[in-house]
Parts: sequence; C-alpha cells; structure tokens
Amino acid sequence: MKQYLVKPGSKINLSKIDPNDTGDFKGGKEKGLLEVEKLNAKLEELQELLFAEGKHKILIVLQAMDTGGKDGVIRRVFDGVNPQGVRVAAFKVPTEEELAHDYLWRVHKVVPGKGEIVIFNRSHYEDVLVVRVHNIVPRATWKQRYEQINAFERHLAETGTTILKFYLHIDRDEQKERLQARLDDPAKHWKFRLGDLEERKLWPDYMKAYEDALSKTSTEHAPWYIVPANRKWYRDLVISTVLVDTLKKLDMKYPAPEDDLTNVVIE
Ligand code: ADP
Repeated sequence: MKQYLVKPGSKINLSKIDPNDTGDFKGGKEKGLLEVEKLNAKLEELQELLFAEGKHKILIVLQAMDTGGKDGVIRRVFDGVNPQGVRVAAFKVPTEEELAHDYLWRVHKVVPGKGEIVIFNRSHYEDVLVVRVHNIVPRATWKQRYEQINAFERHLAETGTTILKFYLHIDRDEQKERLQARLDDPAKHWKFRLGDLEERKLWPDYMKAYEDALSKTSTEHAPWYIVPANRKWYRDLVISTVLVDTLKKLDMKYPAPEDDLTNVVIE
C-alpha cells in the first residue's frame, strides 16, 4: 500500500491520480470483498489486543469530498469491532463555543486515550479546506495552519499516538452519480443538502486546497494516504490493509494476569 502514501514534501496533482485504480489486486470486486472480510476479522482481534494492553493510542483521520465514502468506511472497515474502545468523532460547522477557542481546541479534546481507536469523520483539516475555499479566515491565517497542524500532530505522535490519515479520492463524475443515487432514493434524502450542490461547483478550489494540505502535512509521524475511492470495495481494502499492517507492527501483547494462575482449580 506504499504506493498510496504521500511522501513528505512531495507535490500532489490529484487529477493525475486515478480514482478507479485497483493496484495489483487481481480478482475484482468479489475477491476484494472476501479479502475485506478477512481483514475485518483480523482487525477485530488486533483491536481487542489493543484495548486489553491499554498502551497505544490510534488516531484515524478520514477526509473526502461530499459522497466520498467516509460513512461507508466507518461502517464497513470497522464492522464488528468492539464498540468499547472504538469511538467516532465527527467535525461539523464549529459551534459558538468552539469558535471562541483556537481551531485545535475541539480536536485535542477528543483524541484517543490509551487502548483506544478514534476515527475522525472530518477533522482539523477542515480548517485548511472549507475554511480556505470559503475565505472564512484571512489567507495569512490559514497559511500558518499547516505548520501548526504538523506541530500538533508531532506532539500527539511523540506522546504515544499512532496517526493515520486517509483522503478518499473520488472524481467529479463519481460524485455526480452518488448524488443522483441519493436523490433517487427517499431513504437517502436525509443525506442530501442543496448546499452540497453549491460545494460541488467549487470542486477545483477544493482540489487545490486538498493538494496543498496533502503535500504540506504528510509527515513521517502522521502520513497521508491517497486512497482510490471510486470503487468502494477497493477503498475499504486499502484502508483495512494499512490499518491491520500498522496494528501488527505495534507488537502488542496481552497483559500478564495479576495473580499466578498456574495451579488454579475451579471447583
Ligand atoms: P458530513 O458531510 O461529514 O457527513 P455534514 O453534512 O453535517 O456531515 O457536514 C458537515 C459540514 O461541516 C461540512 O460541510 C464541513 O465542511 C463543515 N465543517 C466542518 N468543519 C468546519 C470548520 N472548521 N469550519 C467550517 N465548516 C466546517
């Protein structure tokens, strides 16, 4: 999955990256879905171990354009994990109280504790994406934020948090199809907001903002992955693989029992 990793400092041109890519994976959707299921079972085991050991903290950042599939990833990749120890934090338009503080305040409050996995559905990156595209703060203000974000994430990493960031890469045509599917299905109308169509018009501005964010904030301690996401099964496969590989590398162990259990007989 190294091919999807953004090398620190590299320039990104998203229009050159194929959102339909399925890498070296042979077998298509059917085999892909089976693979995701297997990885999911593995993830369940590793998360149990992470929770039991109570040592590592895992932060997963999900960013995407509307309909990019953040909700789908949370549903499928984390299907069946023990909700005790896994938490989702969603970042919406900031409240008045949040706006009264610095933009990382609401973020720092919900980072993972020991033994926990926290998934960010949107994140502090909105503060260099939507905020930049809509000129919500002056240019000089958002320009400082890349460095501030890197410093914040370095601080989290140095204090024991493993950070993985995924940008779900779809193209504008795929977004059109997904928006249309929402419009055609009354059960999905709750997800449809007219504002999404206004945002869609700003696609090129968002791509520019994403390209900058990806190249300026992919670091050794908090790397970005650009995940081809037009095919949902492949998107889930990439994220599950990175996650399972990362957790495996932590070399976790179940804690030893508090008491010596060797001669215990239960009557
Ligand atoms: P989602 O699209 O993630 O499923 P919503 O439809 O509730 O959830 O959208 C959340 C909205 O909040 C998005 O339009 C996003 O751009 C916006 N948002 C998040 N963070 C900020 C921020 N810091 N400033 C302005 N808008 C933000």
